[in-house]
Amino acid sequence: MKIGIFGGTFDPIHIGHIISVMEVKLKFGLDKVIFIPARQSPHKETRPADDDDRVLMVEKAIAGYGDFHLDRVELDRKGVSYTYDTAVYLKEKYPHDELFFLMGTDQYKSFEKWYRFEDLLEMMKFIVMMRHSDDMEIASPFIRADQLVVEVSSTLIRRRIGEGLPFRHFLDASVYEYIKENALYETQSST
Ligand code: ATP
Repeated sequence: MKIGIFGGTFDPIHIGHIISVMEVKLKFGLDKVIFIPARQSPHKETRPADDDDRVLMVEKAIAGYGDFHLDRVELDRKGVSYTYDTAVYLKEKYPHDELFFLMGTDQYKSFEKWYRFEDLLEMMKFIVMMRHSDDMEIASPFIRADQLVVEVSSTLIRRRIGEGLPFRHFLDASVYEYIKENALYETQSST
């Protein structure tokens, strides 16, 4: 099987994630995609959502897509969470499958700073998804996705919420409801 691996903070998960991953799945013939929520970075400009909220939002957003799955491995692991450790875990879990790690160009730009990035390139294939319509050149061995581009980010959504502006159109309806019911992202960070 060809398995897509999609890591992210998903704070919150939005249509940019779902549309680009589905387009990549189709284009590259992936059999399924595993969403792996990452530990939260403490450097966000608005208060981030809790791990449980982010996981629930991913579950809601992918419900109904039979080939999209969730794995909590990075949240359940103690200490610093490296993609390398996740790759080792995935290679053990799926020894006979071909793994494709999906990332946006923002992640691609900093890839050489990732822990053991050269080993990572041996362990999985990397598909780079465009985030802007005029996005950058992608070097070999990375695979350029050239998928349908939707320029939505979690940052934009958190900012809209903070400013009291519309954001419903950027999210699955169930995720929108969850954010409203739990008043997520409304409190500005004091840091
Ligand atoms: P933030 O704005 O908080 O940095 P984000 O919108 O980039 O968040 P992440 O959860 O950090 O979302 O992204 C997970 C992965 O999805 C990353 O590899 C990121 O590059 C990619 N990604 C996010 N939004 C898009 C999009 N609109 N199109 C394609 N890829 C995306």
